[in-house]
Amino acid sequence: MDALFRLAGLTRGPHRKATAPSESGLTRKKKTVSTTKKQRARAASKLQKPGQANTGPEILRVPQWEQYDWLIHGFSTRSGGVSTAYRPGARKPGCGELNLGPTAADSRDNVERNRALFAHALLDGTDRKARPSQTKKVQLRLLRQIHSGLVRRATGRVDADAASEESLRGDGMIATEPGTLLGIQTADCIPVLVVDVRQRIVAAFHAGWRGTLARIVERGVGCLRAEFGSRPGDLTAAIGPGIGRCCYSVGEEVRTEFDSQFAYADALFEEVFDLDPIKEKYPMLFLTARAPGHSNLGPSLHLDLVEANRRQLMDAGIAPEKIYALNLCTACDTRRFFSHRAEQGFTGRMIGAIGIRP
Ligand SMILES: [Zn+2]
Repeated sequence: MDALFRLAGLTRGPHRKATAPSESGLTRKKKTVSTTKKQRARAASKLQKPGQANTGPEILRVPQWEQYDWLIHGFSTRSGGVSTAYRPGARKPGCGELNLGPTAADSRDNVERNRALFAHALLDGTDRKARPSQTKKVQLRLLRQIHSGLVRRATGRVDADAASEESLRGDGMIATEPGTLLGIQTADCIPVLVVDVRQRIVAAFHAGWRGTLARIVERGVGCLRAEFGSRPGDLTAAIGPGIGRCCYSVGEEVRTEFDSQFAYADALFEEVFDLDPIKEKYPMLFLTARAPGHSNLGPSLHLDLVEANRRQLMDAGIAPEKIYALNLCTACDTRRFFSHRAEQGFTGRMIGAIGIRP
């Protein structure tokens, strides 16, 4: 079998499953702030006790951004909401899920409650010093995402309907005003957040394969530089949870499209032999006379959207060491993340959000 693959100039390997997802450069806020013994003890005292309801949404943050006390940012996960549509086990009190997008299976009311919980966790946190809630001073702005290269500017406070995703179409937003919280909804697509730390400007992008092909992130950062006067040295970016190259198989037509757009397209694709236990055990049953790539045993093509967007951030002038990628695959970990691909479309939505404190 291996000889066959070698003959075809290919190597065979198992479908690359999540090697324990490393949170390289990123951890949960709770963990990163508790550095001293005293702080750890204080944090531990707040940890969930058996039988107690969960403590609210789990938010993933970039530790390197904690130094900017004017900045609000974070990526939601499934946990800490009131939705029960996507996991029957979530019906126990306090175990609901945090679906943040309007979907057919979930109620609008649940989504609104979850968004409020998310905003509260983002702004007020659980480990910050007690202070009056800021959530009322902040408006979450969303887009009707269309997998485009369209970047919008979110200005001022708008009425509730206009703030929701129904009004503004596009896949990127830029904001300069305190109190505006930009949100990108995803369930496999890559949320990308960018900050100009000198001018205090924030941006958020939605990058699936079509948006990535349309260079949404490169355009967005280009817009920051050309229209907002951002200097590359002042920019830093975060790439949130999304489908990893381990799980994101795509059609040959996607590679053709990327080939036509990016000189580095080859580096974004990988041929993967999906491991099938039956085929592994009885390979002779599946041997065909067809050329490699034309039989069921052929490799599937996997796309690395995180790397594609990292390249765009770099091409737009952001230093590689200031690009923080979570490297967490949504499809590998459906206990923690909603995944459109892994759950055959029956799933909720997460939000990657960024804003300036009011
Ligand atoms: Zn994966």
